[in-house]
Amino acid sequence: GKQVYAFHEGSAKMKALLGGKGANLAEMTRAGLPVPPGFTITTEACLSYFEQGGSLSEALKQETADALKKLELVKSQQFGSPTAPLLVSVRSGSVASMPGMMDTILNLGLNDETVMGLAALTGNPRFAYDCYRRLIAMFGNVVLGIEGHHFEQRLNKLKNSLGVRLDQDVPDYGWQRLVGEFKAICASRSERAFPQDVHEQLHMAIEAVFGSWNNSRAQIYRRINRIPDDQGTAVNIQSMAFGNRGTDSGTGVIFTRNPSTGEARLYGEYLMNAQGEDVVAGVRTPLSISAMEGEQPGLYAQLASVAQQLERHYRDMQDIEFTVETGKLYLLQTRNGKRNAKAALRIAVEFVREGLLTRNEALERIEPSHLDQLLHRGLDEQAVQAVLAVGLPASLGAAAGQLTFDADTAAQWHREGLPVILARPETTPEDIHGVLASEGVLTSRGGMTSHAAVVARGMGKPCVCGCESLRIDAKGGTMEASGIVVREGDWITLDGASGRVIVGNVPLREPETSAELLEILGWADEVRKLRVMTNADNPHDARVARAFGAEGIGLCRTEHMFFAPDRLPVMQAMILAETDAARRSALELLLPMQQSDFEGMFREMDGLPVTIRLLDPPLHEFLPSAADLQQRLAGAASGQSAGERRELTALLRKVNALHESNPMLGQRGCRLGIVFPEIYDMQIEAIFRAVAECLEDGVAVLPEIMIPLVGHVNELSFLRGRIDGMAAQLLGEEKLKACRYKVGTMIEVPRAALTARQIAAHADFFSFGTNDLTQMTFGYSRDDAEGKFLSHYVDQKLLPENPFQVLDTEGVGQLIELASAAGRAVNPRLKTGVCGEHGGDKSSIFFCHQAGLDYVSCSPYRVPLARIAAAQAAI
Ligand code: PEP
Ligand code: MG
Repeated sequence: GKQVYAFHEGSAKMKALLGGKGANLAEMTRAGLPVPPGFTITTEACLSYFEQGGSLSEALKQETADALKKLELVKSQQFGSPTAPLLVSVRSGSVASMPGMMDTILNLGLNDETVMGLAALTGNPRFAYDCYRRLIAMFGNVVLGIEGHHFEQRLNKLKNSLGVRLDQDVPDYGWQRLVGEFKAICASRSERAFPQDVHEQLHMAIEAVFGSWNNSRAQIYRRINRIPDDQGTAVNIQSMAFGNRGTDSGTGVIFTRNPSTGEARLYGEYLMNAQGEDVVAGVRTPLSISAMEGEQPGLYAQLASVAQQLERHYRDMQDIEFTVETGKLYLLQTRNGKRNAKAALRIAVEFVREGLLTRNEALERIEPSHLDQLLHRGLDEQAVQAVLAVGLPASLGAAAGQLTFDADTAAQWHREGLPVILARPETTPEDIHGVLASEGVLTSRGGMTSHAAVVARGMGKPCVCGCESLRIDAKGGTMEASGIVVREGDWITLDGASGRVIVGNVPLREPETSAELLEILGWADEVRKLRVMTNADNPHDARVARAFGAEGIGLCRTEHMFFAPDRLPVMQAMILAETDAARRSALELLLPMQQSDFEGMFREMDGLPVTIRLLDPPLHEFLPSAADLQQRLAGAASGQSAGERRELTALLRKVNALHESNPMLGQRGCRLGIVFPEIYDMQIEAIFRAVAECLEDGVAVLPEIMIPLVGHVNELSFLRGRIDGMAAQLLGEEKLKACRYKVGTMIEVPRAALTARQIAAHADFFSFGTNDLTQMTFGYSRDDAEGKFLSHYVDQKLLPENPFQVLDTEGVGQLIELASAAGRAVNPRLKTGVCGEHGGDKSSIFFCHQAGLDYVSCSPYRVPLARIAAAQAAI
């Protein structure tokens, strides 16, 4: 098929064939903008070049020659002509923008003869030889593979010998001399000399562009960014516009709006009498575009009007490369401009106000991860120096503090007013006071749903976990990775967005909410179908989440309430109780604590549902580890009293008795509640007592009690019976009527999903616990898989994503769809939602919308993102 398209034959829709740059040049040409004419060799031509073992086919050479002929006619110039030479630029242009590919060759078509023609034609030999020396250096670098510094050194030597500092002060004979020297560099440093045959120049340049698709930088970039290897790159060949033709020529780059604030004003830089690379090369300092407004008002006005035209055409902020040749403006490239989060929101809102976009279109353009940037602290990237290690980006935000390996020390330092980073091989509920006291958490083991990750996310604290290259020596008070050792007390900085662990105290950027964000969130709420709830375990988090727009609590993990330092001992006493009486008295102490927690949350969520999950984790999580106890016992010989020894031994006995080989598949969730009914009874009593108190005070309470880890309907019907019984007993007739409580279940065991019909008959709602459901559907341990093999799977593209982060819609999603359909068939009023970590992930939220679920529930700081994503799913 056709392998070469003139710019006027293409359009923006042909991006796959013409590459991003080619499609844009075509589109601009079509829109009547001043683009120097040219043509594009297609990505398909690139692929067949590789199929033919890396040689240009005769057919392609012929088509290129034909396109060149037409270009010659338009320009009234001829390629290789000594009197009116046509010069072109050659650029790569892949479908996705890709650093690492061959960039640009300018002034191609010059040789010892045509350079004289150009000099005569323009009456400007200095300009002609300036072009020629640039061509040889660029060609030498990107086609012949000679390192750029060889050319730069020569140029510097030349300027020294001439006694000038700036390129523009080099006279014509200087450039002529440099041309000779550059040719000599090519001849001596590569296998072939700089070609004098202009067609050979062109063919070699095309081959270099094609070849750069497979250079190692491009390959690495594609792997990281998941760009397929079989797209190929296009080649753009464009007649030159010369910014280096004199003081009324120049070149520059502009954004149509300010990319860091969003302000609707041209932003960018330019240089007069300069070509391409000079703007970025830093040899001369470019001027800001606002200076042009004063100095070249005519040009500025032209640029401003072109900018407006391009924004209208593309309906987005543009990043434009332009050249001015003897006073005439040309556009060399335009693309949607990159912008930071703040600018993105302002631009979206103003585009709607200017009538360029509808609200829905603006909403669709919001990148939810941008909101993460805005609502969390970030790093001042310029200040980042030594990256010690990279782990999983488990909880967003950035934090700096002094390193400790011990939760007690963290709490101590925090009390003394020091910012702390807590680093542990992994965290357990025993460390919770340390997590609470620290600015951020770092672990060397455990995945995105590990204890540290979940707890930190809930608290809105940054967390990097599963950082396996770190060797933490807690006893020795050091931590080592990539040969760098840091000690307890040293400053480190965590970036929860990228997973980086950085040595030193890196300055942070504060989060910001803006009027624009609130406006966009308002639009989102109007279109979304999914309700957005939050996962919160205490009144403070509930308040934060409500301020972010949460429509209730979708998951309160009650175990988190027992982790506070004053509560853990009571919980432990309850677990360790040898007699029923001892257990009961511990539970009696826990009851008022739970009741006040629940009351606090009901009050914060006045008028909105609060879903309380009964205790879920295995009991051993509340006790110290056996290894820890053994160590303490061993140390006890040197000093502890007999009483302390007895206590430790008893504790160790209990820990061993509770030991399970697979605790995640063990006595947890409703299994625990069924075997130790008094624990759930205490929680249920606390809930209804809190309900009664709130009702007295006129608070609109909507309690929803949730049973974890149900796999068989009998588990649910048994526990539901107890809940209904206790509600009647504790509330009395009148309050029972006033309080429309619900009882539902988590669906997180595959068997529950498969038997959803039976289960739904006893449930008011299904809440899909996609963390456990993913664990049990794949059979991947949520605590170990990521560090051990999962990241390897993702790197090797065996799995498209980490399924603990992005819902596996094919497998786990199928269970969700099946269970919610079956459940609704039996119980049409069944409420359904997701409360695993996926509830805050964009593509998982899209799935929930499509599956027709009623809500998602996510950590407080993700609520705004979820509102936007839910709206995008509905548009
Ligand atoms: C889940 O399993 O998805 C869930 C929300 O419960 P947890 O993470 O507490 O096990
Ligand atoms: Mg679970």
